Amino acid sequence: MAMSMKVAVLGAGAMGSLFGGLLAEQGLAVQLLDVNPAHIAAVQAEGLRLETDRGDRRVAVPICRPEAARETPDWLLVFTKTGDTARALASAAHLLGPQTRVLSLQNGLGGADRLAEWVPAGRIAVGVTTVPSDLAGPGHVRSHGAGSIRLMMAQGQDDATLRQLAEALGAAGLPAEVDPMVGVAIWEKVAFNAAFNALCAGSGCRVGALAALPEARALAFEVADEVLQVARASGVAVQPERVHATMAHALEHHGAHQPSMLQDLLAGRRTEIDAINGAVVRAAEALGQPVPRNRTLATLVRLIEGRTLAATSGA
Ligand code: NAD
Repeated sequence: MAMSMKVAVLGAGAMGSLFGGLLAEQGLAVQLLDVNPAHIAAVQAEGLRLETDRGDRRVAVPICRPEAARETPDWLLVFTKTGDTARALASAAHLLGPQTRVLSLQNGLGGADRLAEWVPAGRIAVGVTTVPSDLAGPGHVRSHGAGSIRLMMAQGQDDATLRQLAEALGAAGLPAEVDPMVGVAIWEKVAFNAAFNALCAGSGCRVGALAALPEARALAFEVADEVLQVARASGVAVQPERVHATMAHALEHHGAHQPSMLQDLLAGRRTEIDAINGAVVRAAEALGQPVPRNRTLATLVRLIEGRTLAATSGA
């Protein structure tokens, strides 16, 4: 059954192209949907170049703009940046059939809420992934190192097609586990990202600079702890020790890493601040809980984002 599954990927950038390319390589019917003309042209002309630990090869996979696609998929995997989700789904809404399920593995909070306008809640799945991927150039995806996926129907029900999707992802080299506690994994990743993405974006520094300055290192843990307290107050059983251990590992081993939020600012692109620290601030407000560090970082990054977007658009 998994082999006959039709999968469309909305937002075929670094992650979407990797997931779509690996599934297509396994023989699944995959349709990539994107709006980047250079990427679309490159994949149409020469196939998708996949550079992973399994080798460097090209995979033939159809790609077009969402509004040009016609085939209703069993699964729509949403892999735009969070801020582009609504516009992307509006242009792909005609593809959603009565059985189509939609999965978001995007970073940040509110994945299911962003989809709920377009898909009934019972057909939405959410999750989190540590699989890394970069778009090395048009038509060329690079992903090295291990990663995994945890996913679950947003309403928590058992779903045979979700298990089939997890199986198909695993067979494609993307280990995926259906996990009823996925909310824990989502919040723990948000805590990590709220600290490192926002601090690096706000300072212009790589992770190694945070590691080298004790005050910055301490601030990173304080930012994450604010998020974890909001999660706990929301009834999500996050484990601070686990997040702290992941953060300590990153500080020690990933010093050269430039988090995606900093990369986005440097490239003049919109960041995912609203779905990360911004969403934490909104959740904290609803609980009457103060999160001063996250609030400050969200404002700082939005200010920088406004400046860099204005500079890029020539305003
Ligand atoms: P990306 O910018 O490489 O890809 C996003 C793609 O969406 C782009 O190709 C863009 O052209 C496309 N897009 C934008 N607007 C669109 C629209 N209206 N219709 C269709 N396509 C549209 O981003 P990414 O790195 O692949 O990240 C995607 C999501 O996955 C983000 O939420 C990110 O936080 C998350 N994530 C990324 C990684 C990683 O290593 N890259 C790891 C884990 C999670």
